[in-house]
Amino acid sequence: MKKVPLFIGGEWVQSKTDRWIDVTNPATNEVIAQAPVATQEEMLAAVESAKQAFLTWKEVAVPERARVMMRYQALLKEHHDEIAEILASETGKTFDDAKGDVWRGIEVVEHAANVPSLLMGETVENVARGIDSYSYIQPLGVCAGITPFNFPAMIPLWMFPLAIACGNTFILKPSEQDPLTPTRLVELFEQAGAPKGVVQVIHGGKDQVDFILDNPDIKAISFVGSVAVGQYIYRRGTENMKRVQAFAGAKNHCVIMPDANKSQVISNMVGASVGAAGQRCMAISVAVFVGKSKEWIPEIAEALAKVKPGVWNDKNAAYGPVISPQAKQRIENFITQGVNEGANLLVDGRNCTVDGYPNGNWVGPTMFSGVTTDMEIYKNEIFGPVLCATEVDTLEDALQLVNANPYGNGTSIFTASGAAARKYQHEVEVGQVGINIPIPVPLPFFSFTGWKGSFMGDLHAYGKQAVRFYSETKTVTARWFESDIADASGPNMTIHLK
Ligand code: NAD
Repeated sequence: MKKVPLFIGGEWVQSKTDRWIDVTNPATNEVIAQAPVATQEEMLAAVESAKQAFLTWKEVAVPERARVMMRYQALLKEHHDEIAEILASETGKTFDDAKGDVWRGIEVVEHAANVPSLLMGETVENVARGIDSYSYIQPLGVCAGITPFNFPAMIPLWMFPLAIACGNTFILKPSEQDPLTPTRLVELFEQAGAPKGVVQVIHGGKDQVDFILDNPDIKAISFVGSVAVGQYIYRRGTENMKRVQAFAGAKNHCVIMPDANKSQVISNMVGASVGAAGQRCMAISVAVFVGKSKEWIPEIAEALAKVKPGVWNDKNAAYGPVISPQAKQRIENFITQGVNEGANLLVDGRNCTVDGYPNGNWVGPTMFSGVTTDMEIYKNEIFGPVLCATEVDTLEDALQLVNANPYGNGTSIFTASGAAARKYQHEVEVGQVGINIPIPVPLPFFSFTGWKGSFMGDLHAYGKQAVRFYSETKTVTARWFESDIADASGPNMTIHLK
């Protein structure tokens, strides 16, 4: 059985733990590897190594740090298919989805390669007569990242490359459900020339997260995962006086106006709701039909019913299995609950099977209409291939509904009206808005800006905000005395001041 190693002090080491977590292939539920539950000594060694490495890494010239990122970007591209295959084996994602997961991470590494410009401070000459002020952006020290199962390439790559490019060292605690992809990512980072100790990988669950939350040498923590865990991490981390950013769950609405392009609406609703088995924090899980657009509901249901899940290398598969039997059970329980609550089940994804893979965690595409905001299927993030449709009379009503929702990760509007789009973009209380784009994930030169219950903290992931998150600003106010200028009498000295 493949045992996933830890990465401490620049060495891949086998954990001395006696507790191991099974890593499974969600299409078969076969155990493909085991991840260690890192011991206290191993975690302390990881922090010590990161602390020591920080002393030298922060002094490495910024362009040289950027060059590590350039080499890393090239290596990730060279190994793109291979990483995607590893990723597909432990998440069940289709090959295209798996490649997309890696690609979105590569884009962040490209952004990190731009770190010299991102680290530029500010200057003002003559803040008082003869006095100048200028600021430097300096690294914090040891930072840590705790990542979820659903994007095992992209989300670790949101974190460690940019943190390290800023001059920090890093401890990554990936999801215990898919640790093989982050392991490969870090192997390639090492090959790109990252010095020993700059990044460490520890594995485990709650106890390892608690260690990170409590260790006084860890200065900043980036978390992505579910709401309950995010709130816990934000509270405990900030109570320990650490800088914390916590990206959490979501319930994303797509508002469909009656003047929208109907065929675009149908194909986009299908892809955005059940793509990646609905296991995306930016998935569209609620379609809000305004006025007559509700007449398209049967056609969307018909299109959804044709979509089939399958294994990673099946070219006809629209998406893969969900991550675990527990996740499948949870999603199916929600579908049953929706029926009991009185929503109309137009497409039922329960009891889904895929030929040749009887043990996979399959959930078929599912759609409800007549969903109201008091139903549990509306209130909870189902995190499966389930679309809830609800109906309102006006754009104003749609705005009220979306704004009353406690989450604020992403939303979109489909319309042919610039005025409707402008009003929606301006008034909606959600951090990432798509106009005729269903899943508006910003590219890395912007930031990933979820709002409300979907995010705790102030500085977001990637873009300029992440550079601020992983750094301190030092502002210098300086005065020099002309009387201290040595008399310039040598042959090369041309400055003479009176
Ligand atoms: P999760 O919260 O179960 O796990 C995330 C991480 O927290 C893992 O590393 C896990 O080991 C750790 N963890 C789990 N339980 C813990 C506990 N009790 N105490 C401390 N640590 C704990 O999340 P998941 O199921 O892996 O990921 C799916 C969730 O992530 C969804 O809610 C999704 O919306 C969210 N997500 C959000 C974003 C975003 O940007 N907002 C992006 C991706 C995923």
